[in-house]
Amino acid sequence: MNEFQIYSPEEQFHDPLFTDKGIRVFLKRDDMIHPFISGNKWRKLKLNIQEAKNKNQDHLVTFGGVWSNHLLATACAAAKYGLKSTAFVRGEDVNSDVLVLCRVFGMELIFTDRTAYRDKKTLFDEKFSQDPKAIFIDEGGAGYHAMQGCADIVAELKRPYDHLFCAAGTGTTFAGLVKGMQDAHLYTHCHCIPVLKGADFLKEEINAYFDSPPSYSFHNDYNFGGYARTTTELLEFIGYFTSKTGILLDPVYTGKMMFALYDLIRKDHFPKGSTILAIHTGGLFGLLGMKEQIADALKGSQRAT
Ligand SMILES: *Cc1c(COP(=O)(O)O)cnc(C)c1O
Repeated sequence: MNEFQIYSPEEQFHDPLFTDKGIRVFLKRDDMIHPFISGNKWRKLKLNIQEAKNKNQDHLVTFGGVWSNHLLATACAAAKYGLKSTAFVRGEDVNSDVLVLCRVFGMELIFTDRTAYRDKKTLFDEKFSQDPKAIFIDEGGAGYHAMQGCADIVAELKRPYDHLFCAAGTGTTFAGLVKGMQDAHLYTHCHCIPVLKGADFLKEEINAYFDSPPSYSFHNDYNFGGYARTTTELLEFIGYFTSKTGILLDPVYTGKMMFALYDLIRKDHFPKGSTILAIHTGGLFGLLGMKEQIADALKGSQRAT
């Protein structure tokens, strides 16, 4: 059996809103790929790991914040594929739930102050330039390999869709989806939901993967105040969605993407009869970074109903 084989079904899910508007919505369950090498982080690491193995490198070196889904995915993937892993972690030494798991998977953590952290190449070279077995993987797993790994999502799809939704941090996953659609000659219109504030620069980063700028929609007004910022409204929506579907969303990425999807359907953005695919990019540990806020928001919504 191929050790890179995955399970990520496409599932239709239901809501009275969709019935009301005559729209069918499906979810690509990349969250089911693996509990820790979750979603797009698996897609982004896959080619890096294959390349490391081909070149006989055995040490993944990467970068991230204390709640980074990418660090957790890298730590677990390294363990699974027989590699070592080291992370430069932004900021001072703390024990987030994610970092605890990274340590259990055997990752070495090097806490790095915010100024030094900006220059990742230098950090890598200072410590690993003498180590030919170490491979540099950028923060969040960005880069061409990562983009190409995400394009594979399109090749797996069982049917065509009119629209596709995906959350964006670096925009690498989104670029891969647009690329996959182009390569497959599909006309699915792709919608990007940036989770950061002032994310217009992302368009250039996405377009840089293409010879000429592709066409897609960029929905700038669902960042809820910025990266890892949230609101009671968003957390209540996540509570609603999860309690109706049995599918968890995280407040940093997929919650914002799904909120945008519901909001645009409500505002009649899509004609009756449309089919929409949302990509569940995984990353559910983001929920645990907001325990207090979630508890407060959901107690509040129980009182209200
Ligand atoms: C990292 C992450 C993203 C962002 O992916 P980019 O390729 O950086 O845009 C989206 N969703 C989840 C759940 C993530 O963990």
